[in-house]
Amino acid sequence: MSYQPEELEKAHSHCLDNEIEILSSSVCGCFFCRSHFSAREVNDWDNSAGHSQALCPECGMPAVIGDASGLPVEDKVFLKEMNLAYFGPDYIATHPEAAQVYLDRYFGGKITHNQKNEKLAVTYLQTLADNGDEKAMIALASYYQDGGHFGRKNTSKAIKILSSPALKCNPEALVNLGTLYFSMPPSQETDAQAYECYAKASALGSMEGAFFFAQCYLFGVACPKDPEFGLNLLLTNFIDVYEGFLSGQESINVFINYCYRIAVCFQDGVGAEINLDRALRFLLMASFALSKESDSLSERNKEISEEIFRRISVIAKEKNYKKGDYVLDQFTFYDTLIDASDALHPIRLVHSEFDPSSHELDMELEFSAPMLFVDIGSLTCGVLNGKTHWRFTGISAFQGHDGETFTRIFTPIDGTWVFVKECNLDPVMIITFQNEEDEEEGEE
Ligand SMILES: [Zn+2]
Repeated sequence: MSYQPEELEKAHSHCLDNEIEILSSSVCGCFFCRSHFSAREVNDWDNSAGHSQALCPECGMPAVIGDASGLPVEDKVFLKEMNLAYFGPDYIATHPEAAQVYLDRYFGGKITHNQKNEKLAVTYLQTLADNGDEKAMIALASYYQDGGHFGRKNTSKAIKILSSPALKCNPEALVNLGTLYFSMPPSQETDAQAYECYAKASALGSMEGAFFFAQCYLFGVACPKDPEFGLNLLLTNFIDVYEGFLSGQESINVFINYCYRIAVCFQDGVGAEINLDRALRFLLMASFALSKESDSLSERNKEISEEIFRRISVIAKEKNYKKGDYVLDQFTFYDTLIDASDALHPIRLVHSEFDPSSHELDMELEFSAPMLFVDIGSLTCGVLNGKTHWRFTGISAFQGHDGETFTRIFTPIDGTWVFVKECNLDPVMIITFQNEEDEEEGEE
């Protein structure tokens, strides 16, 4: 060692809050990638760790020191010893947060992806994994699962990591492990292992786990084929997935997977009778979710996206639906609330006006939480939030208390909708639709 630990520690303080020093430097050195460059090349700064730090223009790490510090920033030995002291295995083992900074930046695409940097990411992941960091273990297994950009796939290593006792109750690890088993050449043994992983993940409350668990029943993987049961599992969990999607707590992919699979069941008559409108409703929600991330569609979502649009156009053609502006009427209302009608976030009837001669009902409704509306007839889906104006037609009777909220809707078959608040059965609102004979009389 040419430099004493105290010297290195003092030098390290120059990579923190170093804006003025970098601006008054002419040359800078990076003790991460060990390159040196003109101070004018430093254009990016990072404030995430509570310090303002210059980012290296070569590698993107906050490990830059300017020569205004008086330190030998072009000296290879200095940079090498700094590197060993702050990014070497001994330091990382006791400072996992330093490894995490690198990993976040590397996987966030902020550090050049090359063989050397990827190798370092794997080394860091391994260090954190050895410390029992579950997220690092899962990330490391994913790396071995697909081999990264420069490495080689190593399925057995991935399985070994994901099967470790530390991850026994980690739903994400179980789902990944199940998918790994499922991707192997089909055999009774791997199917059974996949099934078991999905069952456990599902029991631990993972919506993704429940999705794959339901798939097992839809396709008969390691269990007797029971599409009806599989579809019911999907529909039962859908409310949570929907809420999670709208609140940003569930991944868009999980929401898309549920919508797509449920739609296919209703369109093709798997586990339920064919119901094209219901299929279309889920397809429109899926296409809405896809539009939210159209800039960065993964390969898998590109395929799903094409399939969703193909299916939408098949149904639209058969039912003669055309893309157009959405209308907030009773049909949209029904299609929007049908799957959540027994446990809504409070909806307030702000104002209502019923005209018995035209049979039209105008309402202003205030939604206390965002909802996805679906207008099947115009092939649109969007978000409802706050106050919205609705017009229902063909109404024969209306009774409502402006200012009241409702959380449940009963839709008996005789064309009357009853809106109530929680368990209080005194209706907040009752809407009765004209029956077909009334309507014909009205038209004559
Ligand atoms: Zn660098």
